[in-house]
Amino acid sequence: MSDYPKLHMIIDGEKVYAGSRRTYQVVNPATEEVIGELPLADAADLERALAAAARGFAKWRKTTAQERVAVLQGAARLMLERKEQIARISTLEQGKPLEQGRLEVMMVHNLWNFYAGEALRLYGRALVRPTGFRSTVRQEPVGPVAAFAPWNFPIGNPGRKLGPAVATGCSVILKAAEETPGCALAVLQCLLDAGLPPEVGQAVFGVPDEVSRHLLGSPVIRKLSFTGSTIVGKHLMKLAADDCKRTTMELGGHGPVLVFADMDIDQVVNAMVPPKVRNAGQVCISPTRFIVEEAAFSKFRDAYTARYAATKVGYGLDESVEMGPMANPRRPEAMDHMVADARARGAKLDTGGTRIGNQGYFYAPTVMSEVPLDALMMNEEPFGPLAIINPFPNEEAMIAEANRLPYGLAAYAWTNDYKRQQRVAGELEAGMVTVNTGVVAAPDAPFCGVKWSGHGHEDGPEGVQACLVTKVVHEG
Ligand code: NAD
Repeated sequence: MSDYPKLHMIIDGEKVYAGSRRTYQVVNPATEEVIGELPLADAADLERALAAAARGFAKWRKTTAQERVAVLQGAARLMLERKEQIARISTLEQGKPLEQGRLEVMMVHNLWNFYAGEALRLYGRALVRPTGFRSTVRQEPVGPVAAFAPWNFPIGNPGRKLGPAVATGCSVILKAAEETPGCALAVLQCLLDAGLPPEVGQAVFGVPDEVSRHLLGSPVIRKLSFTGSTIVGKHLMKLAADDCKRTTMELGGHGPVLVFADMDIDQVVNAMVPPKVRNAGQVCISPTRFIVEEAAFSKFRDAYTARYAATKVGYGLDESVEMGPMANPRRPEAMDHMVADARARGAKLDTGGTRIGNQGYFYAPTVMSEVPLDALMMNEEPFGPLAIINPFPNEEAMIAEANRLPYGLAAYAWTNDYKRQQRVAGELEAGMVTVNTGVVAAPDAPFCGVKWSGHGHEDGPEGVQACLVTKVVHEG
């Protein structure tokens, strides 16, 4: 496909093409056509990247804040200039509608400008000491970062990991998902074109477990930043533990949505269908388990089902399409498996539950209701276009259901009762809680989970802190 870029890695400033290396075929999930051949790193490539990252860190940690700000702001401008081109790559390799790719570009643009501001505000403090003595608390960059980014936000995830590292003076080796390398390369290229020294920002691809074992096995890497599934996250935490590396883990979720009967149901439906449509539900903060107060259950289920079923599904290059295909063949398979399991246990299928067409990984917007708690979909992250709607008798039972799972990423609550808003916000076990809104993330707000959804933060000042270590110096 002519407008999909030729793929490579970026190691120590050099564009490394396949040559005799192993390769991975990148597939357009809407057409199942092979659109690119991605080189996979061998051990020598990774050693070269590590050596460069060590040099890059020694150099970048000594730069002034103004130098780092100039790179981040320049790169944010380039993201804007290249918006259409980058969004198109995301549709071709990941499937999301163009407009959602453009929003991701804007997300990175806004985040990098935010991080540029934060780079100017990395303060330490002086402790009160008798004359002749001095104790200072300093913040220093943690060191070279290994950043593993998944395919669901192919632009946003690399941007979110590169930004705070660059802002704080760290070097980064980015390993984005092999399914979506074109976006990751385009994002990193904006930073390099804005003046980031080549040894500070690099991109490798490979067999994921080979790359992670190699990079995490090296003393050069001082921090791991990972976004992906909980099971892979746990595995990587164990690898990182062998060398006591700092970790930031953004893992899975199972978004509970509490809907109380005092709400205008149409308002809730209008707000909560778009975040379910987004990226065909392949979003860690996607609203998934709708926990509805009994008195509102039927009305909510019928209205939600009607609105969600009307979603226009198709090839994301068509501007009128609202939901593209799923990103890879594993996802519709997982959806079919979960739907069949829930039906066998007596759940109702209100809409969807099937693939669309026989080309591409399209799946219909799906609603299932009255799903037993032991169904697979009630316990594992569907990561797809599936909304589960169940009735519950009262607030206590609704909160208990929301907190039942080991996940704790985003949780949503809808109620007009002020006292209840306060109680629910306090009781929900989640890193991010919304009350009467479907909007979760913003550049200045920490993005984080608790329990099996991970630890550490991205975005906000906390995202910058996650790339810093604290040192105290006592002088006599
Ligand atoms: P997966 O768990 O195999 O992969 C998830 C991501 O982790 C991919 O980007 C993959 O390249 C990466 N990965 C896998 N093994 C790795 C390793 N050893 N070292 C480094 N990176 C590694 O699953 P998948 O089939 O791609 O996605 C399925 C599940 O992953 C979904 O059900 C969802 O729960 C989860 N997921 C979560 C997010 C998120 O934003 N939290 C993003 C993508 C996928």
